[in-house]
Amino acid sequence: MIRREAPILIVGGGIGGLAAALALAHEGRHVKILEQASAIEEIGAGLQLGPNALAAFDALGVGERVRSHMTYPDRLVMLDAVDGKPIADVPVGTAFRRRFGNPYALGHRADMHMALLESVQAVGRVDLVTSMRIVEVEQTTRGVTAIDADGGHHDGIALIGCDGVKSAVRQRLIGDAPRVSGDVVYRAMIEAGDFPVELQGNAPVVWAGPNCHLVHYPLRDQKQYNLVVTFHSERQEAWGVTEGSQEEILSHFVGIDRRPHQLLSLLNSGKRWATADREPLDRWSSGHVTLLGDAAHPMLQYLGQGACMTLEDAVTLGAAIRIHPDDLPQAFGLYERSRIARTARAVLSAREFGRLIHAKGMERIVRNELWKGRTPERFYDALEWLYGWRADACLAA
Ligand SMILES: Cc1cc2nc3c(=O)[nH]c(=O)nc-3n(C[C@H](O)[C@H](O)[C@H](O)COP(=O)(O)OP(=O)(O)OC[C@H]3O[C@@H](n4cnc5c(N)ncnc54)[C@H](O)[C@@H]3O)c2cc1C
Repeated sequence: MIRREAPILIVGGGIGGLAAALALAHEGRHVKILEQASAIEEIGAGLQLGPNALAAFDALGVGERVRSHMTYPDRLVMLDAVDGKPIADVPVGTAFRRRFGNPYALGHRADMHMALLESVQAVGRVDLVTSMRIVEVEQTTRGVTAIDADGGHHDGIALIGCDGVKSAVRQRLIGDAPRVSGDVVYRAMIEAGDFPVELQGNAPVVWAGPNCHLVHYPLRDQKQYNLVVTFHSERQEAWGVTEGSQEEILSHFVGIDRRPHQLLSLLNSGKRWATADREPLDRWSSGHVTLLGDAAHPMLQYLGQGACMTLEDAVTLGAAIRIHPDDLPQAFGLYERSRIARTARAVLSAREFGRLIHAKGMERIVRNELWKGRTPERFYDALEWLYGWRADACLAA
């Protein structure tokens, strides 16, 4: 007989691991987070959050804490990176907030991570163990054992793999291969004083180019700007982070408008991320083990929804455990059924949106005509499936 008060193990202390811990602690569960890094912290980069993410933050009880760190744009803008002409301009002010019940928000990952961490620490019932890399997961009749890189054993009543895009738990459970996109990302966080004045403003802006694009948006009261530069590589890419160069970046942005082009020299880290997603799964739980966040449904970043979906996952997992408190495999099945189609749609839509942003030749001309004259309401209708998510309706029928 497995004791209900034994911990639920969470592998990974990123946004997903912390959000899941909070959701489970709210259900009265004892949680143990096993994180490979020496400290629970996030990289210095930004996140765009749709109204669905704020709804999830509210359901997790961290809405107010998170909101105080956010920047709220008035519109979302897409421009053609070659001729600088507008492609789309979506107001996200009062009418948008009324429609979706929450604003569109821009935040620093570290601020969101800290808000989650403080809430986890305040709620109690969650043990945080750092410098603990899990390499193996075993299920027994008594529960689940996670085995770390030094051979240590960690026993729990169940286990949730929140260990990101290269999830070791998913490797044990599914063992599927990533789908390397060939797209490479460089990113930077730039102080407002160093960011071109003509590009400053509160809107996230996408400069869509042939096989390349740039995204920038303000953070922390417009004191900083997040810059993400992406291009489709001609090399055979391997998933992961390597050293890059200015020459490589410049070679992919020949012939683009002066305004986005000037941003390329601001990329200061030199690191290049070759991105990947995975084919969506129709199952991601087995017995007392399940997956959450990027471990369950890694997606390309083009919809700005990876973290949003991760937060929705956590809320849904908590709701499923509320329905089946004494049968975690049942709860995991309900959670999974509630999430599979929605997250798969996000994975597939992100791929398609990436193709649209990188359109060239005739496809570019079609893309640039696509949204001409479209009213805000028509944009909102198209976004309803994504932004209209509600915590109180998160479980499958
Ligand atoms: C360039 C880029 C831009 C993005 N922009 C957005 C955006 O604007 N909006 C949005 O919603 N999403 C965005 N995303 C996606 C978002 O970053 C992810 O979806 C989100 O961080 C997933 O959280 P997670 O907790 O599942 O995974 P992670 O944040 O990757 O956390 C995983 C954690 O597990 C730990 N871990 C890994 N393996 C082990 C192990 N074996 N043992 C123990 N610990 C382990 C890691 O150290 C880490 O702390 C973007 C992604 C990229 C690449």
